[in-house]
Parts: sequence; C-alpha cells; structure tokens
Amino acid sequence: MASHVIPVAPFDLVLFGATGDLAHRKILPGLCHRHAVGQMPADARIIGCARSQMTPEEFRDSVASALAQTDCVDNLDAFVACLDYVSLDVTGDRGWDELAARLRDDVVRAFYLSVGPGLFAPIAARLDQRGLATPDSRIVVEKPFGRDLASARALNRALRNCFGESQIYRIDHYLGKETVQNVMALRFANALFEPLWNCQHIDHVQITVAEKLGVEGREDYYDHAGAARDMFQNHLMQLLCLTAMEPPSRFEPNAVRDEKLKVIRALDPVPPEDIVRGQYRAGAHGRSYLEEVGNPDSTTESFVAMKLHVSNWRWGGTPFYLRTGKRLRERLSEIVIIFRDPPHAIFPRMDNRRGNALIIRLQPDEGVTLRMTIKEPGPGGMRLTEVPLDMTFAEALGADVEIPDAYERLVMDVIRGDQTLFMRGDEVEAAWEWIDPIIARWEEAGDRPVPYDPGSSGPEDALMLMHRDGRRWREIGS
Ligand code: NAP
Repeated sequence: MASHVIPVAPFDLVLFGATGDLAHRKILPGLCHRHAVGQMPADARIIGCARSQMTPEEFRDSVASALAQTDCVDNLDAFVACLDYVSLDVTGDRGWDELAARLRDDVVRAFYLSVGPGLFAPIAARLDQRGLATPDSRIVVEKPFGRDLASARALNRALRNCFGESQIYRIDHYLGKETVQNVMALRFANALFEPLWNCQHIDHVQITVAEKLGVEGREDYYDHAGAARDMFQNHLMQLLCLTAMEPPSRFEPNAVRDEKLKVIRALDPVPPEDIVRGQYRAGAHGRSYLEEVGNPDSTTESFVAMKLHVSNWRWGGTPFYLRTGKRLRERLSEIVIIFRDPPHAIFPRMDNRRGNALIIRLQPDEGVTLRMTIKEPGPGGMRLTEVPLDMTFAEALGADVEIPDAYERLVMDVIRGDQTLFMRGDEVEAAWEWIDPIIARWEEAGDRPVPYDPGSSGPEDALMLMHRDGRRWREIGS
C-alpha cells in the first residue's frame, strides 16, 4: 500500500536556527523526504537564517553534506536547490532587510523558530515591526514552551501581540508521530473499542515513555528542567489527553483541542504519595546523573512516575499511571489499557493471569497488541492461557509504506494551515497550571530524588506505586 501524497501550496519557509542541531537532524531531512515524494512544489523555498556568516552556496553545501549521511540521497541536488540563506542576528538589525527582500507575497509564508526559547519573543516582535508577519503567515515555535505557567503566559502574550492564535503552531513532536495519531484512529474509527473505553471496563491505564540514553549534550538545559518539565508536562500529558478525551464532534483543530483541554482541566491534584521522582546512579552502563551534569548537589529528577485521576464521568475510579525516565532498560513509548476481568468466572483460576490488555506501541515497532485469554490446547480439562494478537503497522501495511518522521508531517501541516496536531495556547497553559504546584512542592522541599540503577525500569518506589494498588507495570523491554 503506497502512501497518498497531496502536494502543498508553494511556500517560503524561513528557518531560524538553520545551522543548528534540530534543523540538521530533523527539519531539513524531513523536508528533503517530502521533496523526494513530491509533496513540495517545485517553487517552494526554504530560507535558512542564523548568525554564521556564509553564502547561500556554502549553506547548500553544508546541508548537502549533512543529508548525505542520511537516506535522503536520491533527490539531494534538487532539494538543496530550494535552499537559500541569510546571515542574520535575530537580536540585532543586521540581515533583516535582506530577508525581507527574499520573501514573496503570493505564496504561503511560514517562520520556523528552531532557536533557543529565549529568542522566540524577540523574533516574533521583529517580524511584526518589520512588516514580515502578514495576516496569513504562520509562526512555528519549538519546545520548551515556557518553564512554568508564568513564563508560558508571557510567551503566549508576546506571540499574540504579533500573530493571531490561528497563526501560531506550537510543536509537540509527539503529536506528529504516526502512531500517536493512530490512537485517535483506533479509538474513533473503530466501533470495537469505544463502548469499552471507560471506567466500567478499564481497570487502569499505563503510559510509559522510556529512554535508554542519559542527558548527553543537553546537560545544562536538562538540569534546569528535569523529567517533569522536559517530558511530562508536554509529551506524556498529550498522550494522556489522546487516550482519555471524549470523541470530538469533528476531526478539526479546535474540536480536537477543546476535548484535550477538558482532560487536563479534569485532572485532580496529585498527593505526594502518588509521585515518585528518581535520579540514575552510576552503573555498568556509565556515569551517574550527577556526574553527567557536573553538579553533585543537583536535585533534578531524571525519572518521574505519577498516578493520576481524570475526574469525570468516563474515568471516575480508573487511575492513569504515567512514567518517563532516562537511562532505563530500553527506548520505548507505549500506552497500555488494562481491562477489567469478566464479571463472573466460570473457568478454573489461571496462575499469573494478567487479563485483557490493549498495548499501543508508539516506538519502536509501532503497532498494536491485544492480549487475549484462550484455551490452552490439549485434553484434560479447561486450562486457560494468554496470547498476544499482534499487529506491527509496518508489516500490516506492506513493505513499501514508509512511516514518516514526526517533523515531516508537522512541517507540511503548517504549510497546509492545519493546526490539529499543534498545541493551542490555553492547552499549554492548562498543563503548566496543573503541574506547577507539583514542581513547586519539590523545589520548596529540596528533596533528593530516589536513586535507580541505569538499565533498570526505574526506582523501586515506582514499582511500589502500582504494587500497593495490586497492579504492576508492564515490563520495559518485555
Ligand atoms: P542549537 O543546535 O544550539 O542551534 C541553535 C541555532 O540558533 C543555531 O542555528 C544558531 O546559529 C542559531 N542562533 C543562535 N542565536 C542566534 C541569534 N542571535 N540570531 C540568529 N540565530 C541564532 O539548538 P537546537 O538543538 O537546534 O534547538 C533549537 C530549538 O529546538 C530549541 O528551542 C530546542 O529547545 C528545540 N528542540 C531541539 C531538539 C533537538 O533534538 N535538538 C528537540 C526538541 C526541541 P548561529 O550560532 O550560527 O547563530
């Protein structure tokens, strides 16, 4: 089954931070793929901007040599021909006139801010002052979107001074992952699950985003953020919203985002005993967190697990257990729906019964597994066993279907003007509003997170968070 490609309208994409890591690793390779499959029109242009002095030719050469290391080789020459470059300091005056002169009036105009968060507001203001932010141009803002409610509000205000909400695209690249969008398809395009998708039939939900790596290369940023700000407030909460939200009336940006917002607003405050913070110690896999960030007194968490309650009619009494951490056993993201047992047991009790579960694997091996109970083959009574009904999307869809990287999808959505997979300002603020008191409590107490072994599933206390409720996490890497 081949992917269906709908070409987008001609565009000028101004990529601030074009010489940076994200631009080279994700945004430009993503655009190169979209060019290869014919989604980018011939007259689309990408104008890179950064302070580094170089000619457009030198920029094209540097991008070509970066992309030559990837699988974007077939159309490399044609793709780099779409690139231009303007050397510009976003905090000064140099380069802005040159940028203005390159922009066309009759095409979609998008500004992608792949720069440090401290530069988001100054860039928006300059685009406005210089008349580059036309009424239908778009601005794309990378994460982190603030570090608390106050800073997120200030950033929203700064962006809205220059752009309307319908022009602002706040990236959470998790939403661009095919499998994350599949959560909505599974729930709302099948009649099978939705009747069961509530507290009557679901015992609990587990959401895990585990990383095998430590803080490599991001020590300073991470030690000021921690797992709660870096992963929980955005990616995990988005996964929670997609899992817990009501069906939107239409698949339209505001209808979807209204429903996600309601989930965040329905979250109860979390008592301290329902939260576990961890920090990896040294082990066979490498140095400790404290050694990696070079701060022996750091109380920043590299792991966090929480038990949450979504206080509404659908979810009353069904907890959501969320966890994320670094230096864990495997790199894995999944949503696990654990169903309740049948109301009446007619078969002999099964040892180690885990019950029905729907496991939505977001990465790696994107796909879905339904754990079912069947009869164990053989004579001699009715013994039961559990088996997986397993589907890997790549296998099910056929070898020639490519699962595009999140950034490919998201950048094309910006050009198309589709905000469904981007966070609305009130959604981001509500997420900070909910998590701020939790983080403030930790910072006031100054407690050290509990240590855990690198290569493990996280701290013992996180296992206990479930054990004390008579439940257990699905093994990371099982
Ligand atoms: P980076 O490698 O440090 O790149 C920063 C870019 O900004 C460079 O191109 C730099 O080029 C440019 N820049 C810095 N100051 C400038 C100024 N005054 N005027 C114009 N250009 C300036 O950062 P990154 O890792 O690509 O991250 C960019 C953004 O994406 C950040 O907000 C980050 O939080 C977010 N993000 C990154 C990742 C990732 O995997 N890297 C993942 C998620 C989110 P010059 O030095 O040449 O000016």
